[in-house]
Amino acid sequence: MSYIIAEPCVSVCDTACVDVCPVDCIHGPIDKEGRGEEVKGMSDEDKNGKQLYIDPDECIDCGACEPECPVQAIFEESEVPSEWKDFVKKNYDFFGR
Ligand code: SF4
Ligand code: SF4
Repeated sequence: MSYIIAEPCVSVCDTACVDVCPVDCIHGPIDKEGRGEEVKGMSDEDKNGKQLYIDPDECIDCGACEPECPVQAIFEESEVPSEWKDFVKKNYDFFGR
C-alpha cells in the first residue's frame, strides 16, 4: 500500500508535501527522482495539467504528507475517492511499477 496523489494536485504542484516526506519518495511532474525540484522553474502555464506522484515502492505509509497538501490531494491508497481511483494507477505508472 501507498499514499496516492489525486486530481486536486493537477496544475497546482505546490510541493509542500515533498519537504515533509521522510523517505523522499514524492517526485515529478517530470523527473522521477527529482523531488519536484523542476517545479521551481515552472510558470503557472508550465504546471498546467501536471502533478506530482508518490513512489508506491518507497512510501512507508507514514501519512506525514497528507495534512501538508493545501488542496487535499493526498489519500491513503484504499481511501482515494471513487471519482479519482484512476490516480492510483497513474501514481504507479509514473514510476513504472
Ligand atoms: S500533492 Fe498537494 S502538496 Fe503535494 S505537490 Fe500536489 S498540491 Fe502540492
Ligand atoms: S505517506 Fe509518508 S512516506 Fe508516503 S509519501 Fe507521504 S510522507 Fe512520504
